[in-house]
Amino acid sequence: MTHVFPRHTKANPPVAAYGDGCYIVDTNGKRYFDGSGGAAVSCLGHSDPEVTAAIKAQVEKIAFAHTGFFTSEPAEELADLLIERAPPGLDRVYFVSGGSEAMEAALKLARQYFLEKGETSRHRVIARRQSYHGNTLGALATGGNQWRREPFSPLMIETSHIAPCYEYRGRLAGETAFEYGQRVADELETEIQRLGSENVMAFVAEPVVGATAGAVPPVEGYFKRIREICDNHGILLILDEVMCGMGRTGTLYACEQDGVTADILCIAKGLGAGYQPIGAMLCSAVIYEAVEQGSGFFQHGHTYIGHPTACAAALAVLRKLTGGLVDRVNPLGDALHAALTDAFGQHPNVGDIRGRGLFRAIEIVEDRAAKTPFDPKRGINKALKKAAFDEGLACYPMGGTIDGVHGDHVLLAPPFIMSEDQIGEVTGKLARAFKTVL
Ligand code: PMP
Repeated sequence: MTHVFPRHTKANPPVAAYGDGCYIVDTNGKRYFDGSGGAAVSCLGHSDPEVTAAIKAQVEKIAFAHTGFFTSEPAEELADLLIERAPPGLDRVYFVSGGSEAMEAALKLARQYFLEKGETSRHRVIARRQSYHGNTLGALATGGNQWRREPFSPLMIETSHIAPCYEYRGRLAGETAFEYGQRVADELETEIQRLGSENVMAFVAEPVVGATAGAVPPVEGYFKRIREICDNHGILLILDEVMCGMGRTGTLYACEQDGVTADILCIAKGLGAGYQPIGAMLCSAVIYEAVEQGSGFFQHGHTYIGHPTACAAALAVLRKLTGGLVDRVNPLGDALHAALTDAFGQHPNVGDIRGRGLFRAIEIVEDRAAKTPFDPKRGINKALKKAAFDEGLACYPMGGTIDGVHGDHVLLAPPFIMSEDQIGEVTGKLARAFKTVL
């Protein structure tokens, strides 16, 4: 009998006893390779001595001081380092406790920015159908994930959703990847015209899509066109790097690879690497100054913003990421991609193997040539999750419906500290799970 309100009510999960590098060990001594870091959280693995020491040292000095009265050394240093490495224009950091909170803050800051500028009708948000931005109401309304949205739809702000940039399913025969990207980006233009640009405040997107479809990178030129459309209409670009940021795709900020910058950028997960709950919203100097010179303060806040212990943990994480760890991500990611292609490239139920850095996914289909998905009733992703877990691999198989098409995929987001040898262990365990289920 448990009094914990479990996330998955039917599951009877093992009890995580301790962490050992890339492994989680349960109370029976069974070891699980953490193949997805929960969901792209544990970039340093589970027993990093420096992060642990930083947390201990901070708690011994002062665990918490409310930002209504104080700032703290770790918060100041963390913000400096984040901005020093950030894409051009981003200048200020607002710390929160997770990804959804970062997205809520982003939406409210966007709205307040336009109020400060006297553009009071700007309130509409445009996002994409293939997206997840969090489970709080504003973030949930922004995301396009129908299954998560539906029960709560009467509570939500009105949001528009345009096509995702999902080359595997969206690119037409005879169309180049570039042409495809421009075509779907232009849906933003059409939606802005329909709403009237004077009513639109922001476009929101994940540079590399995470939970809804599994590590979907944009095609070349897509985000440049999106940036151009936003600029033409004075609309803010909010990039959600909660999952794909903090080195996960090979650069500290994912958008660097697409040659664009955001007006507001959200990070979480890998920022605290699971050692502490922390997220952040970065914003441009232009936005910050409009607020500072207008009403003088951002009309938002939570008790734990800028939590010193969480910031101390994140600072220790970020020093490791920027001190060489992110440099491991692309070579390891390429090796992982090659190993996945070796193991699954010819599998009759594998439609696509994709991703960037250590953010990789396999899309599973019933018919490879026709790209026909499995009937969701077969619960392929759940069966794979269980079979992989039995093999001692924790990974993140997900299913979802986008534009009426069901998709099953397996997301891999292993720790950046993994060795080349462990790539073989991951693909071997996953291959045995595939054999059990498919
Ligand atoms: N945005 C994205 C892209 C995410 O993947 C997630 C979490 N999966 C969130 C926002 C929400 O973050 P959190 O669960 O920390 O609230």
